[in-house]
Amino acid sequence: MPLDSPIDRAREVLRRTFGHDEFRGYQAAVVEEVMAGRNALAVLPTGGGKSLCYQVPAILRDGLGIVVSPLIALMADQVAGLQQLGVAAARLDSNIGPDERERIWRSLGEGGLDLLYMSPEGLMAPNMLERLSNRPIAIVAIDEAHCVSQWGHDFRPEYRMLGRLAEVFPNAPRLAVTATADARTRDDIRNELRLADAREFVDSFARPELQLSAERKAGQGHGRVEELVKERPGRSGVVYTGSRDGTEKLAARLAESGVHAMAYHAGLDKQLRQDRLSRFLDEDGAVMVATIAFGMGIDKPDVRFVIHADPPASIEAYWQEVGRAGRDGLLAEGITLYGSADMAWAFRRIDEREVSPEVKQVQVRKVRQLYSMLDGMNCRAAAVRRYFGEERVEPCGQCDLCLGPPEARDATEQAQKALSAVHRMGGRFGRGRIVDHLLGKTKEVRPEEAALSTFGLGQELAATEWRDLIDQLLFEGLLREEPNDGRPLIGLGDAGVVREVYRGERRVQQRVFAAPARARKERRGRLGAMTEVAPADRPLFDALRAWRKDQAALQAVPPYVIFHDKTLLEITAARPTTLDALSHAGGVGQAKLDRYGAAVLEVVAATP
Ligand code: ADP
Ligand code: ZN
Repeated sequence: MPLDSPIDRAREVLRRTFGHDEFRGYQAAVVEEVMAGRNALAVLPTGGGKSLCYQVPAILRDGLGIVVSPLIALMADQVAGLQQLGVAAARLDSNIGPDERERIWRSLGEGGLDLLYMSPEGLMAPNMLERLSNRPIAIVAIDEAHCVSQWGHDFRPEYRMLGRLAEVFPNAPRLAVTATADARTRDDIRNELRLADAREFVDSFARPELQLSAERKAGQGHGRVEELVKERPGRSGVVYTGSRDGTEKLAARLAESGVHAMAYHAGLDKQLRQDRLSRFLDEDGAVMVATIAFGMGIDKPDVRFVIHADPPASIEAYWQEVGRAGRDGLLAEGITLYGSADMAWAFRRIDEREVSPEVKQVQVRKVRQLYSMLDGMNCRAAAVRRYFGEERVEPCGQCDLCLGPPEARDATEQAQKALSAVHRMGGRFGRGRIVDHLLGKTKEVRPEEAALSTFGLGQELAATEWRDLIDQLLFEGLLREEPNDGRPLIGLGDAGVVREVYRGERRVQQRVFAAPARARKERRGRLGAMTEVAPADRPLFDALRAWRKDQAALQAVPPYVIFHDKTLLEITAARPTTLDALSHAGGVGQAKLDRYGAAVLEVVAATP
């Protein structure tokens, strides 16, 4: 009888242990490569199933699978999930006590461990390498591999040490995985991690379950954020703000208006952070208001929205942060609020960094690319995918710009007026004063200003339209904003481009949105349809969730470690009466069937 090929055996593990019918996207190709003992680099979108790419070979190949991961929360989640599936997995980090450590080393010595998760510094500690180097190693997986690149936003110097793994484990295949890496970052990963020979698997960056939208900030306050959150009652979400102080204020405000909201940032006491994280994971409809200190490694699958109350740092950061919504494949939203002042701050921060001019240049370009996507006229998802180097990208059909395409109005003449007003006023004033000047409404105007030819020259637009146009000119780099401690001053931007506009060689197009309210309503309608349960199915879905909640509490793990919402939805729809029927639901593998099958069938039978 012919022996099963490695990929057949891998598929068997996928079905039996993980409860999934088929590999997705590049998973099979990556697994096959690693099973053959070769190095690989896999760039798969969030939710694309990167972890299976190393977990399955680690289970099948002889020896220990080592997984390097940057964050304890991420490791804890994955290890708990694997243990539920009956896989021998453990993690070694600073939170693991001596007894537990002893136990892990013992089972490792007996060859009884399939996967061991560690931080880069934990793995690269000399005594650790020594203890591991003479053991059979099935695979070395490097998660979030983009952290090795200084071009990216998540640069972690300790990742640079991982290049040495090539010598320490010369016989083990090494697999680098990440969700975000443009061509340049991929080169960095290859060089730094010594993966010159690795085959590269780069999947599409499409996330069809994400509905993206972005709005210019209307003011400085958090009113709009509150509105957005309240329009999504009972849904779990993350709200990112730019400052620690901002998270606390916004969380308090949301809590006051009845939202189950909590603040999270690196300045909080460790225990408090841990408690809030657990509550976010365990409780329904929790909203985390956080700085970007929160997130990497948060694998909660049913985050239904990510709102940027302040914009992200780059398109990579954007994709990673909004990517935390909808990991279960059900519809989710990414909503970004942004303003020209945010852009000005971003430039200022880059300027203050102590890095080479070359790095600064790259970072400035990244900020520009981010804002031209946010403030753009065309499909956001397509813009992001093109940014990552995808070709022949179709519009997504569901972002705000696809659903309610803005019209372009030629505003070249008004742009010329605004630019000359700024020029004449010498860059010493803010937006409001410039608008007043154009309208000829400046209070207690000095005679010198009233005498300028631009004074009162802009009667054709209303104040809000002028503000909007000035924003547009800022985003296009025709004007430049000086943060000036929160009271921004506006000056002329790139001289060459300004000249082209003066001469009429370059046209300025202003975005005009036809009916934003309608597009918004349409979006919400679709979101509801795809994530809510039919009324007739509600009792069963709720009963299953209640059962899951008890199980989770009993075992002190997050509910989704027991079963994902998606699995519960499938069970609700199928109403299985036998274990065999139940096993067809995605995410129900043998271990979970043995462990929970009878209980789930009981819930189904007992619920009308
Ligand atoms: P990533 O790390 O790439 O964001 P994960 O490895 O956490 O993604 O997987 C995301 C989700 O997709 C998980 O819930 C996982 O169980 C599920 N998943 C992964 N691979 C498959 C597959 N082949 N079939 C069905 N579900 C899958
Ligand atoms: Zn679109």
